[in-house]
Amino acid sequence: MTHPGQLLKEAKLYAGKELGQNFLSDTQVARKIIEKTGISKDTAVLEIGPGLGALTIPIAQVTSNVIAVEKDSRLINLLRNELSILDLNHVEIINKDVLKLDIKALAKDKKLVVIGNLPYNISSQILFKLVEDRACVERAFLMFQKQLAARIKATPGGRDYSRLSAVVQYASTVSRVIDVGPSCFFPRPDVDSTILGFEFFSDPDFDIRQEKILFSVIKAAFSQRRKTLKNSLAGGELGFEKSLAIQMLEAAGIDVKRRAETLSVDEFKNLTRSVLTLGLRED
Ligand code: SAM
Repeated sequence: MTHPGQLLKEAKLYAGKELGQNFLSDTQVARKIIEKTGISKDTAVLEIGPGLGALTIPIAQVTSNVIAVEKDSRLINLLRNELSILDLNHVEIINKDVLKLDIKALAKDKKLVVIGNLPYNISSQILFKLVEDRACVERAFLMFQKQLAARIKATPGGRDYSRLSAVVQYASTVSRVIDVGPSCFFPRPDVDSTILGFEFFSDPDFDIRQEKILFSVIKAAFSQRRKTLKNSLAGGELGFEKSLAIQMLEAAGIDVKRRAETLSVDEFKNLTRSVLTLGLRED
């Protein structure tokens, strides 16, 4: 792999902050990351933001089934060229915003492994999208800023526990795969990064419609995280009467004075069951 700094210089391009372009420049680290994903020659991989190919190359050296989605059209020819030097012409490159990608159509009944050194400014949105599309995503290995990785993995009760933690932990088992320091990137970021692994599953207790309501409950609860649950459920997008919000919390066995950041995923599920019974009908 050619160093990203050299490739950009030769092409008279710059790394765009607005696209979160901190390219991995350490090939050994890139190789180690891909080893840790455990992909094999039969794995169907979707790579998000291939950039100049730091991860695409070691992925394509393992499997012939790789689709890479890159938003920045300036990089596509450089990427194709890097792959072609190594005879890795089997990678399908799609020039598109991943947030607009129809992952289900792309998967065509296969279960994908998603890999990406994510653009930091939309990494939460990408993760929410993968949760929604997890019927066709088996596992994911994604690089985040270390602080965001800590929030995703956070457990109830702490400052880091957030809407993202609750939604992601409802839909997957999350593990820390490897930390990557700033010196492994070009340009060098100010912060440390962490790769997290996600094993997605569907909840046998909740169908898609009920799950949507669960996500709305979690969103409303965290939209005003300093407020007690009886107040956050009464405001926000659900907008229940306060007396009804209290009834729902009591039916779920949750003290009305608690705050969202103290609720486990199971408690959010119980609360959603009360919302479905007392507030929102399923039809
Ligand atoms: N995978 C490469 C690497 O590790 O060196 C690049 C990683 S860089 C942090 C993020 C990449 O995502 C960039 O190539 C950027 O252009 C691309 N990107 C940014 N926003 C995107 C979007 N909405 N959809 C697809 N790719 C995007």
